[in-house]
Amino acid sequence: MNDSMATALKSIFPEDQLRFDQESLQTYGRDWTRFYKVDPSAIVFPSTTEQVRDLVLLARKNKWALVPSGGRTGLSGGAVASHREIVVSMERMNRILDFDDFDLTLKVEAGVITEEIQKWAAEKNLFYPVDFAARGSSHIGGNVATNAGGIKVVRYGLTRDWVVGLTVVTGKGEVLKLNQSLIKNASGYDLRHLFVGSEGTLGFITEVELKLAQPPLPMHVMVLATSNLKNLMHIFRQSREQLPITAFEMFSELALQKVLAHHSSLSRPFATSAPYYVLVEFEEKSADTVDKALALFESLLESGHIEDGILSQSPTQAAELWKLREYISESLAPFTPYKNDISVRVSKATDFLSAADEILKKAYPDYEVVWFGHIGDGNLHINILRPKAMAIEEFVKSCRGADDLLYNLIQDYQGSISAEHGVGLTKRSFLSKARSQEEIEILRSIKKIFDPDNIINPGKLFEPN
Ligand SMILES: Cc1cc2nc3c(=O)[nH]c(=O)nc-3n(C[C@H](O)[C@H](O)[C@H](O)COP(=O)(O)OP(=O)(O)OC[C@H]3O[C@@H](n4cnc5c(N)ncnc54)[C@H](O)[C@@H]3O)c2cc1C
Repeated sequence: MNDSMATALKSIFPEDQLRFDQESLQTYGRDWTRFYKVDPSAIVFPSTTEQVRDLVLLARKNKWALVPSGGRTGLSGGAVASHREIVVSMERMNRILDFDDFDLTLKVEAGVITEEIQKWAAEKNLFYPVDFAARGSSHIGGNVATNAGGIKVVRYGLTRDWVVGLTVVTGKGEVLKLNQSLIKNASGYDLRHLFVGSEGTLGFITEVELKLAQPPLPMHVMVLATSNLKNLMHIFRQSREQLPITAFEMFSELALQKVLAHHSSLSRPFATSAPYYVLVEFEEKSADTVDKALALFESLLESGHIEDGILSQSPTQAAELWKLREYISESLAPFTPYKNDISVRVSKATDFLSAADEILKKAYPDYEVVWFGHIGDGNLHINILRPKAMAIEEFVKSCRGADDLLYNLIQDYQGSISAEHGVGLTKRSFLSKARSQEEIEILRSIKKIFDPDNIINPGKLFEPN
């Protein structure tokens, strides 16, 4: 970091909103990925939209690159700063701004933690339904920038479905107020939706307007064991037809083993072990819902689609069962896993999984490969675990070797290289496996309109020109 940059930044930010020390640079310069060099010039902590705008104008003048940074729980390197960029942490923009109790909309700054929004809504006897294991750290701005999905998409959809307005600062320094909580607005292109899932490449999201839902009914959880992948789709169809499901997740026996090894307080849900498990969550919509769940359980057992299972008897037990699924990512973290986050049409998910499993077994006979995911959305997380003795660089290089095979398979299935984590740095060289050249050209043109100097998160989503 040079003196002139420090002096210029000090013209916008007081001392406590600026950091240059190594520890902060290393902490704020990265997300959950561990494969990239971390080398930012400075970290700034704006507290208003105006400060963000002034920073963008200054950066344009000086051709400085800016990296928007939220809760840094991203899994695609989207918030990583490797090339002397200025990291713009949104953590000081953490105020709840306004609640409209007629429209049931909530306006917050972008740095509010996801879980705080959930808790705030619950206190008003309302519900913010986008939910996932990183809820305690991720920001709502980061959720919007990645169009976060999570565990309740089968019932409530993705972040996009809950965003009714945004305030953004573009890469040109314009402050745009988009949609302003309207339900209907047929006045041309909806720029709000361009920012949802933009991975911080068009500008900064500084304020978010969300709609809130009515609170859910009491929830129950079943965990079911199955010996055959092909059974998963049958179990999903039956569950969807017979129960008001809110989540349908899967994980492999190896995933369960890693969770149990990492969390000694947890135990197997039942004695039988099987190659795959599904977690079905459903709402108690009527007095006979639990009876219907038990009947479903019995019929799946009888038809041989499941080997064993458990139905929660209390909210505490339901929460314990959820941990078996939700703790997978953190239990795998010590293995620096090479992560894939792919999606195909739901009906094709298990066919894809079988074909991908074949490819990975051949490519990595010696690696452990852990499967889990939001299978009710056609979204699978494939985690290849690094053998302890292997250096990270060597491991990543060898994993990259099979990416082509895997992504060609995704192309054959007309699926996506990223379901919910985003392209960031990790998947940018494979964008053409999910989007046509014509589409990529249009995406690049859109980026140029919002960020003509390429100063906002350069090198993310697209390969550098
Ligand atoms: C244990 C674990 C479980 C997870 N489970 C899920 C899951 O089930 N579903 C899911 O979708 N994701 C999941 N994730 C991934 C991650 O939590 C989400 O992508 C989340 O939305 C990222 O939010 P963040 O605030 O941490 O963003 P960051 O990691 O800080 O940034 C993510 C991207 O958004 C951009 N960005 C951040 N804030 C802004 C802003 N204000 N304006 C513009 N751009 C911005 C960044 O530049 C970057 O490109 C999981 C992660 C972990 C660690």
